[in-house]
Amino acid sequence: MKKHLLPLLAAASLAACAPTAKAPVATAPAAAPPPAPAPPDYQAIATDFLNGYNAEYVRLYTASSEAEWRSNTHIVPGDTSNAGATTRANQRMAAFTGSTANIEQLRELLKHKDALTPIQTKQLETALYNAANNPQTVADLVKKRISAEAAQTEKLYGFDYKYAGKSVTTNDLDELLRKETNPARRQQVWESSKAIGPTLKDGLLNLRDLRNQTVQALGYPDYFTYQASDYGLTREEMMALVRKINTELRPLYRELHTYARYELAKKYKVKQVPDYLPAHWLPNRWGQDWGSMVDVKGLNLDAVLAKKGAEWQVKQGERFYQSLGFPALPASFYEKSSLYPLPKDATYKKNNHASAWHMDLNQDLRSLMSVEANTEWYETAHHELGHIFYYQSYSNPDVPPLLRQGANRAYHEAIGTMMGLAAKQKPFLAGLGLIPANTKTDQTQQLLQEALSYVTFIPFASGVMSEWENSFYAEKLPADQLNAKWWDLCKQYQGMVPPTPRGENFLDPATKTHINDDPAQYYDYALSYVILFQLHDHIAKNILHQDPHATNYYGNREVGEFLREIMQPGSSRDWRAVLKEKTGEDLSARAMIDYFQPLMAYLKEQNKGRKYTM
Ligand SMILES: [Zn+2]
Repeated sequence: MKKHLLPLLAAASLAACAPTAKAPVATAPAAAPPPAPAPPDYQAIATDFLNGYNAEYVRLYTASSEAEWRSNTHIVPGDTSNAGATTRANQRMAAFTGSTANIEQLRELLKHKDALTPIQTKQLETALYNAANNPQTVADLVKKRISAEAAQTEKLYGFDYKYAGKSVTTNDLDELLRKETNPARRQQVWESSKAIGPTLKDGLLNLRDLRNQTVQALGYPDYFTYQASDYGLTREEMMALVRKINTELRPLYRELHTYARYELAKKYKVKQVPDYLPAHWLPNRWGQDWGSMVDVKGLNLDAVLAKKGAEWQVKQGERFYQSLGFPALPASFYEKSSLYPLPKDATYKKNNHASAWHMDLNQDLRSLMSVEANTEWYETAHHELGHIFYYQSYSNPDVPPLLRQGANRAYHEAIGTMMGLAAKQKPFLAGLGLIPANTKTDQTQQLLQEALSYVTFIPFASGVMSEWENSFYAEKLPADQLNAKWWDLCKQYQGMVPPTPRGENFLDPATKTHINDDPAQYYDYALSYVILFQLHDHIAKNILHQDPHATNYYGNREVGEFLREIMQPGSSRDWRAVLKEKTGEDLSARAMIDYFQPLMAYLKEQNKGRKYTM
């Protein structure tokens, strides 16, 4: 990298010299005045700098991804060699992106924005944002943070969950929470899923300080503010945005909350309907998705998917994207990904949390999943492939590696989630032959199920998670109030309470992986839902001319074109401009509220005479 830095330094010092050039001496015989020194060609300097920067960035990014990949796919309890390799790779990346020389060069070039092209400016700003995560002006701190993060990840994914005296995976616990109907056993399952919390407490508190101090070195007051700045928003603007979304969806959530309390009390044969939802009643460890509460007749795909098998689901996802005009995935995707659960006798573990990886910021695309043949993984496979095709779309010569990311982080999530939603609508399923075309379905139940997935998620993501992390990072939430704050927020936003008091000897927020390894950006998912309904609304009404509740995207090239125009530029264009241009709207829950509007009347009818507590 150094050889690319030198030309810029030379040019910069030349420029600094220019104003001190001596005026011609008056007494000397008249001579032609020396030509005025040409102003430095900042575009050329920036091109040279960015060429070098991008090349080294890709090299280190790839090495880091490879190490992280191994850390997540080959976990041997007690073996710290992967963690060590990951730490070293990430430290090299940090030393580069945060190098003092790079920071100075970036700041210097950004002083001359007027002379640069917009895409150069955008790259320089992105590089400076990246620098703030690892400024080498505080190298020791950065080093400590990276080791602490690797150790936390190791603990998080190596944890031995126990239920009924046996080791279980989080997949097993999730399955039990979806199916078990005995409240006492549900409580045991739920408590098992929370046992990991206290083991992560010291690590998390340490990470808070290290994360805050790191970004403070580049002038951000705290880590939450830093993350929000990636959207071009202040912390206050981000919190105002997530609170607005919450408020907009609150009336619908209130109906769902009342409905769920009464329906679940019936299901578990509990006579006294509780005012707040007991956390262990919900079919999800954090109460963030209640979709499996409802079985939509004729649309339960589990049986037909079980026959098709796990591999079919991934392949089918790829065929769907191809039908829209996206190219096939490279062969390496199937060779190098880790798509299915490990065999029972495996001597190592893997991270069971689904993810998509852009290993080299080019064509090495991989996914880490544990796909099983069921509806949840069918949807998840479509979601992760959304990330993969997004990566593939912006890995083109017009987008420099630094800008190979979503228009903002929420777009990346929106595209995949929208494709998962589209792939579950009736005309789509019938078109694929997964259900008979004449299947009678209850449109209201279908919509209810979607609301129980999408709408119930907002108070969790936009409320509990965002508020807790805002408080944790920016408002110095005291170490003896971490769990209390969490449950206050759960009650306030989700109307959910723990089955028994949860004191500070527990740390329930830390059971959520993102709190540990994807900090202060969970609002991405809430914003992504809002954006996905805006995009889906546009596709259904303006491209397909279909009811947004019953679409079939399959094989429609115009839909593919619409999506590719959003995906191909990566982050080289402003996300607000893209949204406005493609949908005619600013970010708003309008489309989401419209989509679920038919459900309001139904829920009000169901809830007649029931007590509302939120
Ligand atoms: Zn995702």
